[in-house]
Amino acid sequence: MTTLMEKAHSGMVTSEIKRVAVNEGIDANDVRKCLALGHIVIPKSISSKSYPVGIGKLMRTKINANIGTSRDYVDIEAEVRKAITAEKYGADTIMDLSTGGDLDLVRKRIINSVNIPVGSVPIYQAVEKGIESMTSDDMFNAVRKHAKDGIDFVTIHAGVNHESFKRLKNSDRILDVVSRGGALTLSWMKHNYEENPFYAEYDYLLELAREYELTISLGDGMRPGCINDASDRAKFEEFIQLGELVKRARAEGVQTLVEGPGHVPINEIGLSVTGMKHLTENAPLYLLGPLVTDIAPGYDHITAAIGGAVAGMHGADFLCMTTPAEHLALPDEDDIREGTIVTRIAAHAADLTKDGVSDRARAVDRDMALARKELDWNKQFSLSIDSERAKKIHARSKNVDTCSMCGELCSIKMMRDVMGKK
Ligand code: SF4
Repeated sequence: MTTLMEKAHSGMVTSEIKRVAVNEGIDANDVRKCLALGHIVIPKSISSKSYPVGIGKLMRTKINANIGTSRDYVDIEAEVRKAITAEKYGADTIMDLSTGGDLDLVRKRIINSVNIPVGSVPIYQAVEKGIESMTSDDMFNAVRKHAKDGIDFVTIHAGVNHESFKRLKNSDRILDVVSRGGALTLSWMKHNYEENPFYAEYDYLLELAREYELTISLGDGMRPGCINDASDRAKFEEFIQLGELVKRARAEGVQTLVEGPGHVPINEIGLSVTGMKHLTENAPLYLLGPLVTDIAPGYDHITAAIGGAVAGMHGADFLCMTTPAEHLALPDEDDIREGTIVTRIAAHAADLTKDGVSDRARAVDRDMALARKELDWNKQFSLSIDSERAKKIHARSKNVDTCSMCGELCSIKMMRDVMGKK
């Protein structure tokens, strides 16, 4: 089978490429060229019915919403509602991170409830029978099963291996490994005295990815889990290896994303993003945060949005939503709505600064400014990222044309007079 990346390389402008170009408002040949180079991915596997979404160079910054059951809390209907809510409020993709209940059923229900691409972490299913019993076959079989079900992209922690573990052991981290997939992989390696199968048999993983047109999201298993651990050698060691794995995937026509940290202070985000982009030869970068402080539980959607906006400005392409429940509990539907909206704000703030994207993004802000000047409230609501909330708050104003902030002292109204534009 010829993969999408190979088709792009040979000059074909496929229907997926055309659709992405139309959605982004750019030339299809520019999308094709970036896809051929691996600077854009369009995660859409052969069994998937999702519409194509472009992530990477020249694309609007995309956002992902993580949902899924836990072993403590299994409510499939709630997860389906979360998926629908995330799509409604603007998530570009969803990841099913379920670890509890009937994993096949929850995955299929989520895939069938949304139109956007869905990702997963197959090792969460492979480990269902326990670390001690899990085999490398279980790990690859889970990848195949997810691809067959219509999953579009999978997180694979191939950068967690003997080499990066050695670097971790020599570090002075406080939180060692906070990635669930990373910790599971290291536990398996320790129990079996073996190399990570996804790293040792990476060529086989690429064969599977080719067969199902599955996009590989190379997981950041060594991502720092607190400000103290940010930007250390263990993280960069993993990125050196992920860069090599990206290169091997591209040679096989397999699309790859690279995942990144984590918790990073604002002044290190630029270094972190440009370093990762350099080491991975401009692979689309998917960030989990970065959270810019550790001390705001309950508000981590905000600490992540601050970091996400700065990271996007420096070139991050894809932001993973963080919710107010981060570090505290499994998110509920309200958390997903809040997290999705706040992450969209961060993504748009980044887009206002990005080469090749900022003109399109700024046009929306210009329309909002014009609507404000006209005191055209309906137009303002229609342009708002969360129009429901904007309408609800404005409804507290009794004034018909202005709002209750300044009332008759509305500067916009006064300046119409001053500028002779009544
Ligand atoms: S009343 Fe004040 S806040 Fe409201 S629209 Fe006029 S200037 Fe803006």
